[in-house]
Amino acid sequence: MALKYIDEAKLNGQKVIARFDFNVPIKNEKITDTTRIDSALPTIKYILDNGASKLIMMSHLGRPDGQINPKYSLKLVASYLAEKLKQDVVLTETAIDSSVKGIINLPKHKIILLENVRFHAEEEENDAEFAKILASYADVYVNDAFGTSHRKHTSVYGITQYFKNNSYGGFLLKQEVAALMKITDNPTRPFMALVGGAKIADKIKTLERLLVNVDALFIGGAMAYPFLKAQGKKIGASLCSESDYELAKKILNQSSAPKIILPVDHIIAKGADAPAEICKGFDIPDGMMGFDIGPESIKLFEQKIAPAKTVFWNGPMGMFENENFAKGTFSVAKILAELNAFTLVGGGDSVSAVNKSGVASRISHISTGGGASLEFIEQGQLPGIQALKFGI
Ligand code: AMP
Repeated sequence: MALKYIDEAKLNGQKVIARFDFNVPIKNEKITDTTRIDSALPTIKYILDNGASKLIMMSHLGRPDGQINPKYSLKLVASYLAEKLKQDVVLTETAIDSSVKGIINLPKHKIILLENVRFHAEEEENDAEFAKILASYADVYVNDAFGTSHRKHTSVYGITQYFKNNSYGGFLLKQEVAALMKITDNPTRPFMALVGGAKIADKIKTLERLLVNVDALFIGGAMAYPFLKAQGKKIGASLCSESDYELAKKILNQSSAPKIILPVDHIIAKGADAPAEICKGFDIPDGMMGFDIGPESIKLFEQKIAPAKTVFWNGPMGMFENENFAKGTFSVAKILAELNAFTLVGGGDSVSAVNKSGVASRISHISTGGGASLEFIEQGQLPGIQALKFGI
């Protein structure tokens, strides 16, 4: 069965329940980045403009760990949506209390936002009873929460069993899947990937998968040190756990390992707050830590990536939150923006680097889901998307 998207749904007179990813950053009672809500607006507007009698929205915010916690309330999201849609948005007290049905059935209420689904432990447990209650609110189900679709959570996964022929993907999901398929299904070659950040263990499967498909794989950030160490280079006091070193050794033993390109110099310091200096060459002196790729590495990456026709980037090239160690990451963002290629950036840090360097409009696709995009590349699928296609 093919995945059906919202533009194929009959919405007239229907109650629609839709899962979005409104997990936005909040500081001092203000949403500091509305991108995730803004990306959901085309689907929301389509549902409202095509005759749905009710729109019931679901989302999580933060990690309330199954407890009701006002800190993670969706109230600011409800106000922002009301402002954008120029219509009332009613926020329920919880997603499943006894008043919800009454609110939905009141004729004056058209747009309802259920309070944070993660206020209930049942959300992350993919609980059947919780799924049944949520499903009882509507006739049609829509998933537009790409960033959460790698999780088998009730509101993206279990709920679909109650909408066997009435489950649809939203426009954001459609866009994300189309972009990621340009990477997973016969990418235009040369296809190259850049992977950085600190957590090798989280990205190991994606690295292995990428290594089979890519023509070149650049590794930067803290992730590079286990690989350099495994090649016999000195890495000083740079981040490198024993298990990451073992994983790196395993990857370097694979036949496709020659496709890996590692940094050839570094920006080093005694600690994150100590003065930074350039370390020419591979070897980092004892007691010093590598915090960014160096100028020769940036040149090397720029030159080697130039012929690429498809590029995937996830993870910063250094500890870019500190301006002494930000140059590698920002340079990579700019290098990608200059390429004549399909470029896809995923992962909070790399996306933020692209935005901060002002080149976002020159990147072909910026994914709203870091973990979800990695898992899609690794598996070629996500549980929440499979559930839309086949049910569970
Ligand atoms: P990840 O979540 O795996 O993408 O890792 C992102 C984090 O890795 C960011 O907070 C960076 O500051 C950190 N990071 C990247 N490179 C380094 C490095 N060389 N040393 C320490 N932290 C790093």
